[in-house]
Amino acid sequence: MKPCLYVVATPIGNLDDFTPRAQAILQSVDLICAEDTRHSSHLLSYFNIKTPLISLHEHNERERTDMLLSKLQEGKTLALISDAGTPLISDPGFILVRTLKSHAIPVIPIPGACAAITALSVCGLPTDRFIFEGFLSAKANARQQQLLQLKDESRTLIFYESSHRIVQMLNDAKTILGAERLGFIGREITKKFESYLNLNLNDLHEYYQQNQSQIRGEFVVIIEGVAKKDLKADKHELDLNSLLSSLLKELPLKKVTQIVSELTGLKKNYVYEQALIVQNNVIQHDIIQHNIPQDESIKSIKE
Ligand code: SAM
Repeated sequence: MKPCLYVVATPIGNLDDFTPRAQAILQSVDLICAEDTRHSSHLLSYFNIKTPLISLHEHNERERTDMLLSKLQEGKTLALISDAGTPLISDPGFILVRTLKSHAIPVIPIPGACAAITALSVCGLPTDRFIFEGFLSAKANARQQQLLQLKDESRTLIFYESSHRIVQMLNDAKTILGAERLGFIGREITKKFESYLNLNLNDLHEYYQQNQSQIRGEFVVIIEGVAKKDLKADKHELDLNSLLSSLLKELPLKKVTQIVSELTGLKKNYVYEQALIVQNNVIQHDIIQHNIPQDESIKSIKE
């Protein structure tokens, strides 16, 4: 094995999801960096993996990185695991990976479970474009601000949430993003009491308020993006264009820009540019319709 760091995914619940390749790599490296060595030692001993462990968590990652870099430079091979799922995804490892990259040390992924992607694959909400927001702030004000910034996001939104805050988080999401927005919750994915729920944000909030026994374990919250902006914009443009076209037949460009901008709340510059396009189209149309030389047609329309 060449000196490198393997970033190894571990199961998010069901131990059968631990891939044979991940086990073989952990078996063969010189050292495994784990978020919580006690937690990981259970997993490793279950699979009879006896490789030494060293802790790497958010409070010691900076100091550890220098030491791990030296080990790699001495020719050792390392693996990084977190408590569950894919390291670096709402888990430690970013400082280490970035440092190794800057020293041209190979970092090799050993893929496996990730709660966000696993939940996304069964949520029934659009999966073609999505954003991962991880955990929202634990502080109500900051959390509400974060949600406010996501209000107009058209991509599917993925969050991680703990049982302590799921009800408050859903309450804020319903208030800020809209009660009718569709949501999905994947709870205890791949575990004994796994559950999957598709409801709008209002009903999701109500469900967890009324079913306290379900507020246990780990949660992935997925929320649909706001209705496709592009579609709205297309429709808007169609409406705008016909409005501009009608007005341009009666009024000068400047006046049309001013009226339409006031009526629609759209920026004057944008309306002006659209109006110019429409006006040119009208001119082109007239040239074709009347089959007259371009210069003359423009002159006649301007007059
Ligand atoms: N690195 C992990 C991954 O790849 O998914 C995520 C680690 S993050 C510290 C832990 C959070 O992930 C939990 O609070 C929960 O939101 C989500 N999570 C992890 N396992 C889960 C599971 N089995 N079911 C639902 N959510 C889970």
